[in-house]
Amino acid sequence: MTAPRHVLVLGDQLTRAHGPLAGADPARTVVLTVESVGLVRATRARVQKAALFFGALRRFAADLEADGFTVDHHRLAPSFEAAIAAHLERWPGATLEVMRPNDRGVAEALRAAARAAGGDVRVVPNPLRLVDDEAFDAWAAGRKRWVMEDFYRFARARLGWLMDPDDPTRPEGGVWNLDAQNRRVPPRGHRFAPPPRFAPDAVQDEVLDDVARTLPDHPGRLRPFDWPITRAQALTALDRFVAERLPGFGPYEDALVHGERTLDHSQLSVPLNLGLLHPREVLEAVERAYREGDGRVPLQSAEGFGRQVLGWREYVAHVDRVRGPELERANALAHHAPLPDAYGTGATRMACFADAWANLDERGWSHHIQRLMVFGNLALGLGVDPIELTAWFTSLHVDAQDWVMVPNVMGMSQHADGGGMTTKPYVSGGAYLNRMGDHCRRCPFDPGSRIGPTACPFTVGYWDFVDRHQERFARHPRMAVAVKAWRAHDAAEQAAVRARTSELRERLP
Ligand SMILES: Cc1cc2nc3c(=O)[nH]c(=O)nc-3n(C[C@H](O)[C@H](O)[C@H](O)COP(=O)(O)OP(=O)(O)OC[C@H]3O[C@@H](n4cnc5c(N)ncnc54)[C@H](O)[C@@H]3O)c2cc1C
Ligand code: SF4
Repeated sequence: MTAPRHVLVLGDQLTRAHGPLAGADPARTVVLTVESVGLVRATRARVQKAALFFGALRRFAADLEADGFTVDHHRLAPSFEAAIAAHLERWPGATLEVMRPNDRGVAEALRAAARAAGGDVRVVPNPLRLVDDEAFDAWAAGRKRWVMEDFYRFARARLGWLMDPDDPTRPEGGVWNLDAQNRRVPPRGHRFAPPPRFAPDAVQDEVLDDVARTLPDHPGRLRPFDWPITRAQALTALDRFVAERLPGFGPYEDALVHGERTLDHSQLSVPLNLGLLHPREVLEAVERAYREGDGRVPLQSAEGFGRQVLGWREYVAHVDRVRGPELERANALAHHAPLPDAYGTGATRMACFADAWANLDERGWSHHIQRLMVFGNLALGLGVDPIELTAWFTSLHVDAQDWVMVPNVMGMSQHADGGGMTTKPYVSGGAYLNRMGDHCRRCPFDPGSRIGPTACPFTVGYWDFVDRHQERFARHPRMAVAVKAWRAHDAAEQAAVRARTSELRERLP
């Protein structure tokens, strides 16, 4: 009789349709799954994030066992190393197959742990990406800048996604990018369909109790816990998004609405990043809804959503793979201010910030514009250390993983790479937030003021950013106007902005 295969399934690769478990014979496959408390402690992850990973893994392991696999599931293990050592004590000399981990450095750490315990690790391809490494590297070779939009067009043509059926070299509708149509603010009283909520079953209830007991000192609240943690729930979340919120996704993609937790965003980053959904099936569902929906799904929504999944998501994964090691330490703008207390407590009178923070506090998630234009934008204006900000984002968001967080925070949001990922820093004053949302009218600050007691902290931070980096951006095609305007301000006003920024760094109002 031949020896069984040993497969190590990581918590963000929960799939039986792709990778080493695809077509695996249950009678000949031993599966190792690990709930690593050490990993959760290392990032001081919020409790809801720990419950998401542990719960999804526990359910995945239980389903495999029910289907006849031998499963070595380690509940609340102190670390991966300890679980691998225990596995190899039971099955001496085994080689563990593992799908190439999404995060850098993990494969090496797993291999070292297995070898120390007398076994080994064999890394097999990771089919959860839509654009493989060779294709990306060929596209990137010789390019001075890796512009996301160029990559997106390349990836879209390569996959044949949302292309003109009569001429597969042309994008559907003849235009690659319909972003200009996606900047609407919803009319007052507009109702958004809420995403489905999945009440915890008995297994998840136990996980929630385990996490409460094991991580009493970690931030966040555990309940309500209603994220999709099984394949069936992930499919329901996808179906409901496509049926109910995809039509509005495009137009309201950039909006900020007080008290609206999700707007028409999909919240699919959670099941996608757990491996419960493959990005290809998400794209296929979107294209099907566009083509078969009798006009219900406008092209701007299908294209806008696909650009996030096929464009941004794939792009940042490759940027992290290739440039991650330098990116995670980058600080081109020399920003060193500490993260203000309000990022930990949410205690502030700034209406847009308090609302975004409440969203994050409730379920460990905030939507893209809250991440980019509220949390990220304010930190950039105040000159917060981008590495500290990345750690904050990673600890508190349930969908955070290094491969996606590092490029998004360091590159996209904080310009810490000096502009490798974005043509212009994502920094703006209150006027932008006022245009895209309804928070300013319920806020004690004035988005148009940069000095005085009611000056909006975003506006103050914006001008201080322009001041600090005027030499760098004086000839920048999209920032030079702001530099010129700043230089035209009188010296007293400039000094007031600098003084106020220093105060804001000490304490946000
Ligand atoms: C500062 C900052 C931090 C971020 N941190 C994360 C993170 O830790 N994990 C994460 O998955 N995304 C992150 N993003 C990207 C994006 O904000 C989230 O993917 C999105 O808000 C998740 O909600 P959603 O599923 O409703 O997204 P939707 O708005 O519905 O978008 C659809 C999908 O597109 C993908 N997507 C969209 N934008 C991006 C992007 N910039 N990078 C990668 N994928 C993208 C996601 O998979 C998302 O589920 C971050 C963005 C910023 C600016
Ligand atoms: S005035 Fe400034 S702080 Fe207040 S809601 Fe508007 S942008 Fe936010």
